[in-house]
This record gives sequence, C-alpha cells and structure tokens, in this order.
Amino acid sequence: MPRSRKSAESHRRSPDDTTMVLPLLPRRRGLLFPNTAGAILIGRKTSLRAVEDATNADGMCAVVTQKDPSLTEIAQADIYPYATEANIQRALRLPDGTTQVWVQGFRRLRVIEILRAEPYYVARVEPIEDFDENTVASEALRRAVLALFEKVARLAPSIPEDSYVLAMNIEQPGLLADFVASSLNLDDEQGADILSTIDTRQRLEKISIHLAKELDVLELQGKIHTRVQEELDKSQREYFLREQMKAIQRELGETDPAARDAYDLRERIAAAGMPEEARKKAEDELRRMEGIPSASPEVGVIRNYLDWLTSVPWVKATEDNLDLEHAATILDAHHYGLQKVKERILEFMAVRTLAKEKHRSPILCFVGPPGVGKTSLGRSIAEALGRKFTRVSLGGVRDEAEIRGHRRTYVGALPGRIIHGMKQVGTVNPLFMLDEIDKLGTDFRGDPSSALLEVLDPEQNHAFSDHYLDVDFDLSKVMFIATANILDPVIPALRDRMEVIELPGYIEDEKLHIAQQFLVPKQLQEHGLSKLQLSFTTGALRKIIREYTREAGVRNLEREIGGICRKVARRMAGMPAVAVRPVRAARPAAKSAPPARGGVSISNANLEEYLGPPKFFWGAAEEKDEVGVATGVARTEMGGDVLGVEVTLMPGKGALTLTGQLGDVMRESAQAALSYARSRSKELGIPAEVFEKTDIHVHVPAGAVPKEGPSAGITIATALISALTKRPISRHVAMTGEITLRGRVLPVGGLKEKILAAHRAGIKTFVLPKRNEKDLSEVPAPVLRDLRFVFAGDMADVLKVAFEHRRPGS
Ligand code: ADP
Repeated sequence: MPRSRKSAESHRRSPDDTTMVLPLLPRRRGLLFPNTAGAILIGRKTSLRAVEDATNADGMCAVVTQKDPSLTEIAQADIYPYATEANIQRALRLPDGTTQVWVQGFRRLRVIEILRAEPYYVARVEPIEDFDENTVASEALRRAVLALFEKVARLAPSIPEDSYVLAMNIEQPGLLADFVASSLNLDDEQGADILSTIDTRQRLEKISIHLAKELDVLELQGKIHTRVQEELDKSQREYFLREQMKAIQRELGETDPAARDAYDLRERIAAAGMPEEARKKAEDELRRMEGIPSASPEVGVIRNYLDWLTSVPWVKATEDNLDLEHAATILDAHHYGLQKVKERILEFMAVRTLAKEKHRSPILCFVGPPGVGKTSLGRSIAEALGRKFTRVSLGGVRDEAEIRGHRRTYVGALPGRIIHGMKQVGTVNPLFMLDEIDKLGTDFRGDPSSALLEVLDPEQNHAFSDHYLDVDFDLSKVMFIATANILDPVIPALRDRMEVIELPGYIEDEKLHIAQQFLVPKQLQEHGLSKLQLSFTTGALRKIIREYTREAGVRNLEREIGGICRKVARRMAGMPAVAVRPVRAARPAAKSAPPARGGVSISNANLEEYLGPPKFFWGAAEEKDEVGVATGVARTEMGGDVLGVEVTLMPGKGALTLTGQLGDVMRESAQAALSYARSRSKELGIPAEVFEKTDIHVHVPAGAVPKEGPSAGITIATALISALTKRPISRHVAMTGEITLRGRVLPVGGLKEKILAAHRAGIKTFVLPKRNEKDLSEVPAPVLRDLRFVFAGDMADVLKVAFEHRRPGS
C-alpha cells in the first residue's frame, strides 16, 4: 500500500510519540472505513481550504463524521472519536458549488484533540493498528462472516456483485470486518461503533450480527415481495387471462367458428338481461359446450338452446299508451260498426288501466265465425295500447308439448308455441292472440288445455315453465286475447278465465258498408290502383255479397274484391287478360276485353266478366217448389248456413236409409220424424200401406260435411211428409226445431246465427219453435224487418207454412 508518512511524521512531538497532526475533514453523514476508498462531498469553506492545503502538501488528512449533521461548527465532543487516515486523490468542483473529493482510506485514527478550527480544523490523531490473533476462533468468525456476507451480497441489490470475491481475498479479520462494514447499509452510529471497536474479534462479531440482521431483513423482504406479487398476480391473473382468452378467441374467431360462436354467445348472455337463474343456467351450458369437441352433435344441441335462451325477451318492453280516446279513434278507424264490441273493449281497457297490476282483469275472448274481424280487432287494440302484436293458432293442437315444448332430451326438441310467439315478438309485454282455442284437442299425449290454463292464470304465469327452456319465464306482463269460432267445445275451466265478447257476423247492409269503407280502399291500395281507376257500384257489391259469398264474416268478400283488383291491375299493365274462371260460353267479351285505358267501373252488368258465374243462388235454395225437399238451417263454425233435406221413396220393405254423415242425435231425430209421420198417417193423408212397400232414403247435403244435433227434426219430418203425400214445399221457407214423437216442436240453440244465415241466403219465411221467440231480441232490426217469423208449437204449424205456397213477398 503506498503510504506517505512524511508529512505526518513531521508533526511528531517526540520519537516515541505515535500521534500526528492532520487536517480534519468533518463529514455531516457517512463514514469512511480504513482501507476503503470513497467520495466525500465538501461544502464548508474551511474544509475546502483543508483539501487545498493538503493536496499542496502530501494529500493526507483525517476523515471524521459529525454526530449531529446539522452543526456547522464542531468541537471534539461533536464528532465520533475515531477517524480514518485518508489520502486525497482527486478533487472535483461540481456545478452546485460543492466539491467532490475522492479519498483512499488507510489506517484507523483516534482523535486525541482538535487543535484549531481556523482556517480549517486540524487535529492531533493517533493511528491504531489492528492486532489480529490467528486463533481458531477468529478464523471461525472470519469464515462465518464470509458465509453470511455471501448470502447478503446475493440478496441485497445495493451490494456490487464482485464484493464477495473481494471479501474472500482479505486475509486479516480486522480488514475484512471494515470492508464488510463499508458494504453494509449501516447508519452512522452503527458505523462509528464498528470504527471504534479496536478488538478485531469483537469487530467481526458485531459485523456478523449486523450481517445476520441484514440477512433476516433481506429474506423477509424477499418473502413479502413474493407474497405481494402473488396477491397481485391472483387478482390480475384472472382478468389478464380472460382478456387474453378474448383476444385469442377473437383471433381464432376468424378461422374457428366454434370459438367465435362461444364468444358471441357469451356476449349475448351478458346482454340479454336474464334473471339470475336463467343466466346461471346459460353460463353453465356454455361452459359445458366449450368442453365438448366441436364435431360432437351435442354442441349443436346446446348452441341451439343458448340461442333460444338469449333470443326470447327478458327485459325489453314497450310503454303502454293508456289514452282511451286515442284507443276509440283507432278502433273506429279500422272497424265499421261493432258498437257494442268496441264499448266492451274500451271498458275492459279502462279497468285494466285503473286496476293496473293489482286486480288483473280477465282475459278477453272473441267468439265468432271467420272473417268477422277478431284478429284485426286484436291488432287494433295492440296498436291503441302501443304494444307489439303476435298470434299463435291452437287449431289442431293435441299435445301438451306443442304449448310447453319438449324436454331437451328429445331429439330435435324445441320450445312450445307460447315461447315461439314471445321470441318472434321480442318484447315482454306484447298483445298475444291465442287463435282457435275451440279447436284444442286432448289425447294420450297430455292435455294442452291444462298448459293453457297455466298460461292464462295470473297467479301462475309469472313463472311459466316451458320444458325446453327449463327455466321460469315471466308471462305476467303479456296481454292475452283468445279467439274461438264457437264457445261450446271450450272447457269450462278455460271459459271461466275469460270474458267472452261475441261477434255473431254481419248482415248484408253492414257488409256493404264494410266493403265500401274498408275493403275496397284497402284492396285498391294493395294493388296500386286509384279510385279513378277502379270503382264498384253498390249493386255490384251487393251482388258479390249475395251471389259470390255466403258467410257470416267478410273474408271471402274481401278475397273476391281483391280478385277483381288483380285482374284490373293486370289489364292496366297491358297484360293479356286471361279468364281465370270459366265464363259462360256465350260471353265473348270476357276473352277479348281490351286493355283498360280509362277507369273501370264494376257493376251488375260486367261483374261476371271478372268473377265468373255466381256461386250461390240468392233468394231460395231451389229454383221451384219441390216435393221432398225442405230447407233447414244449422249453426256451424262458419256462423250459420242453410241446408237442404232431401227425401226420396222407392219400392221396398219399409227400410229407412240415412246419408250425409249424420251424427247419432240427428239419426234419432230422423227416426222420430218417421214414427211421427206413421203414427199420424191418417191425419196427414198418407196411405197406411205405403210404409210396408216403400223404402225411404233421407239425405242431407253436403254429403262430406258431418252434421249433428236435433234441430233438423222438423225439417226432416216436413221433407218426409212432403214426399209421402207428394205435396211440394215452399222454397222460400226455412225452419229449425226439434221434433218429439207426438209432433211437438222443441226449442233449439244458435237461433241468432241461424236467422242471420237464412237472411243471408235470401229466405223469406223462417219457422222456429215457439219457445225460441225470446231469441229474436238479439237479432238486428233490419233482419227482423226482412223476414217473416212463424212460431211453431207443433208439426201442424210447421206444415201449414211449408205447404202454403205464398208467392214471395206476398
Ligand atoms: P277473423 O279473425 O275473425 O277471422 P279477420 O280479423 O281476419 O277476421 O278479418 C278479416 C278481414 O275483414 C280483415 O281484413 C278485416 O280488416 C276485415 N273486417 C272484418 N270486420 C270488419 C269491420 N267491422 N270493419 C272493417 N273491416 C273488417
């Protein structure tokens, strides 16, 4: 080690005096250990002078540390008692006015006294040499310190990597202790303590304690760091992984439809707003799907299921418009007449408005023949309320699963019609029309009406269970309206839930108005025609009603009008007019009608050109009064209809044949009619032997339509007696009534529909049981005016009218 003691020696007081006088460099912080190098920052002017002077001489000085860094002037008590002899190697002035001095430390010095403070501190110091005993104990200590230092050096980021290698090469224990002390982050007091420890073994011990402590701290620090990292990782990991998965799925999505599917489905589940139960179910299923190879058919099944689950409406709703005036306007704008029906609908809506959720009003049920406007009324109510509209037909539904769906275990399972309707409409509060509830059947596959009861029950329908969906579905916000052609087949439990509104059908005048105000404008618009291009005379419309349609509603009327519009539109477009229906041969005009230039007016005269020959004879069933042919009326799903009863006689042995698909009750009433005729043969003027020699055949056309009920009793009897007595029956008379063996006429049902049907067919006289007289109160006034009503108590009353042969209108 290069040492220059020249200057120090010059300060000796005597030859055995080992003390020296050296400039003192007091540091505010930090210690310089013997035999180590370091940089010292100097701010004090005095110290700067000391450095200048020292460098001009041999560069030697004593570096000490203040106990209190804030002091600017120091006395001996203010510094730690030991200093380090140092040689100033280089001094650098820094921009901030301070000076950085590089020093190399040599020996340990004891500060004996501070000699002066001006122009810089100078102290008398005494070098302290280490005395190292090479004992086993100190060697053991040395190794222990080295071993600890190795660990600390490895863990502490502040210790340079090669420090351990340097330490390994230091033989003397004292030097090693100083070196390690300089490497550790000791505070000044601890450092000063090491510096003051002259006994090298003690010094090593102290150092080893510091090392052990440092190691503990470092290890603990490491542990805490790891734990913090773990905690952080755990929470971030999931987020991170999910994001990564999304990114991967997005990437894969372009090539792998399965991954894209799963990704889409997850987004849809999140967006669907399902209740907790459904959402959990959906997520479980999705997870299951992702675990199955995409080629497996199961994937398709689950996918389909999730598709359903996410596309039925869970939260989306429309806002109700509860303005009744607005509703009335809409109903009037779309429907002619139906005053009572409209009033009831408005009342119903008013109650719903007032009661809101609390008292749910019953479900409406429109009952009436086809084409009377049940569906269109439903649509208008939806429009008035601002709700969306959907309908399902329950006609021919025999299986409960059609309403409730199939369980997913079935191959090709799907939800039922209710959920289908909900998906299609897309809101939770639509107006839902259940069509043809009278056509609901029952068989071994379960009772669909019980499922329907659940749908319509306000107590239950907030948690409707569809087998396929497998989670509760809320139908409580849906407004249901049912429709039926006739009420009889509807099971009582279902009927009780509903408020029935009857639409019996229209009379001719009403149809005329509907055609003029609604059907014609609508059809013109649909076919892109204007009023000037096509018009209908009242006579033509009446003829269409009478001779081309025979219905309670206006559906066929609308169709015929539409047919004419289509043909006119074709002509307007200059396309060759093709006679769709065979037109009477002697009417060449139909084939050669020129392309219409101006407007077309449909009148009685040219109607057949467009619609072909009439389909019905209006006024009477037959062209002339016939023997053995009587006109009855029946109530049907289409409202009501007239039907002829034919009887022929042929030589035989008195057998009775009945044809025309007659039901048991009708066959029995035919038997009763025959027995009555036989028992009264004398009175009626029938030769008694006829019954032995004659076979009787009763036929009720149309033969393909099943007929049932007792109300044709008097009609069959009349036809029979006419045939047996050879007296013709007035073709202007229609009749209905049950017959007893003694010829009494009993009341029957469906009078209103039957009378309307007779009126439609142009019948003039209507015979009905006396006890049905009260039913006339429900018949519209124009009909009462047009028809002559005869109330029959027994067969004699009936026969009197039937054989009367009045001239029509007389
Ligand atoms: P339903 O459902 O009873 O079979 P729709 O509602 O389908 O009958 O009606 C058939 C057609 O007749 C529709 O175009 C409807 O607009 C029309 N219609 C029925 N009644 C009326 C009416 N009172 N006023 C105007 N149009 C009517």
